[in-house]
Amino acid sequence: MEVVKYPHPVLKMVCKPLKKVDAELKAIITEMFPLMYETKGVGLAANQVGLPYRFFIMNETGDPAHKEKEFVFINPEVQLGGGRPVAGEEGCLSFPKIYADVVRAPKVTITGFNLDGEPVKMVFKGFPARIVQHEFDHLNGISFVNRLDEEESDFVEDDLAALERKYTDAKMDEAAIQKEIDELLALRT
Ligand SMILES: [Zn+2]
Repeated sequence: MEVVKYPHPVLKMVCKPLKKVDAELKAIITEMFPLMYETKGVGLAANQVGLPYRFFIMNETGDPAHKEKEFVFINPEVQLGGGRPVAGEEGCLSFPKIYADVVRAPKVTITGFNLDGEPVKMVFKGFPARIVQHEFDHLNGISFVNRLDEEESDFVEDDLAALERKYTDAKMDEAAIQKEIDELLALRT
């Protein structure tokens, strides 16, 4: 398992709700935590590891010692709240070394299901609320660079172009990628 990088097409897709979480998928989701910690992340969406499903994981501390902060949200719904949106710096494991300010709601209410299929409802404020919005965006094919103002966009333009060149040079087989996505969708959505 590895983190896919911009501009991989799976990052632009609207992920589909899961109909089932089988043992295999459970194992994959569990494996995503060490991958997230290794890469110094605080959140990781399904499509960032090539899975076209609606779920993400997070741990606002980025520290595997803080198991109590580990969350899995399957088929999540997010409600924004808390008043005036606030700007804060974000990065993304799919956009290595790129950071920019994004305006987000200061508070979210998220509902969904955990890894055991139990319904969950959480309220987050501040930094974890930002993580939820960033990861939930991924599931709708939206990356943080799509939410930048003009100035911030100009700031990251060259770095994005460099990632695009790298992707082109890798000569990815887009047909094979699509076939794999279709198979994964048929399996669990
Ligand atoms: Zn991200």
